Amino acid sequence: MKQSMLLLSISFLLFQCSALQTPSPRDIAKLQTVSETKDILFSLASDQMAGRDMRSGGYPMAATYVVNYFKSNAIEPFFETGYKDAFTLNDVTSYNVVAKIGTYDPERPTILIGAHLDHIGISTKTKDSIYNGANDNASGSTAVLQIAKVLSKYKWEQNIVIALFAAEEKGLLGAKHLADRFQNEKVSLQLMFNFEMIGKTLTTGANRVYMTGYKMSDLPAVMNRFTPNFVTFLPEAEGYNLFKRSDNYAFYQTFGVPCHTLSSFDFKNYDYYHKAEDEAESLDVENMNQIIRTSTYSIGQVLRSKAVIIVNE
Ligand SMILES: [Zn+2]
Repeated sequence: MKQSMLLLSISFLLFQCSALQTPSPRDIAKLQTVSETKDILFSLASDQMAGRDMRSGGYPMAATYVVNYFKSNAIEPFFETGYKDAFTLNDVTSYNVVAKIGTYDPERPTILIGAHLDHIGISTKTKDSIYNGANDNASGSTAVLQIAKVLSKYKWEQNIVIALFAAEEKGLLGAKHLADRFQNEKVSLQLMFNFEMIGKTLTTGANRVYMTGYKMSDLPAVMNRFTPNFVTFLPEAEGYNLFKRSDNYAFYQTFGVPCHTLSSFDFKNYDYYHKAEDEAESLDVENMNQIIRTSTYSIGQVLRSKAVIIVNE
């Protein structure tokens, strides 16, 4: 009896220890292999996915792929009704795919990690008619899936919500819909990480991203505390106001908290933005995998440290 009590308390202690762990670079590398990065990227950007548009019928296939990935990693739906957050656009119903890590507690702060899954479908104007959208944004979607997989193996003191957005290419509509829903359901959003076009190596160096809205909060500085020089400033991102041109923006508008996009598309390193040639073969998968691993480590550290991220007024 005594011995079994001892064993019980030892296993409880071990459980407690693992519960407080934060993913190390080694743990992350084991779970986020280059071959898995490649596999997800090439699947989402395959011709079969028909440019991941509602009209082409490709978007639901991509969404099914995402749901299967969540299920096989025991990542549960965010909504009681399931993973889909549906809305109607020009009489066509579309939906974001939304999942959660661990249990959701409305009293706790919520961290959102997202990327848009949709692309622009099929064009009748060009010879290669399928717009595969490998960099835009099968790459960011791949990042979000692999990050979710790692984070799901650990216990967190924050709610972590994972979202793959629909209709970004139609004017950031999926994100707007989810931001409204979060507001109605009183989700206490604290921070959002959005991933866009991370498939090419930044001209300024490997294993780096830039952040949109760089000067708007101290998130870049906080992340760089854990992963030095990883988050950089891109003058063009400020010039073109990319902060307002992706899914982070709706959440920033609605909640006024730090919501940023991480990207490595710097206008010099890729000629195929919104072109049929934006295909998986054109991307730097090794570097993309490095970015995903570094992002995962950085996010894990930011969450565990409970760093307070300040919005600069
Ligand atoms: Zn995009």
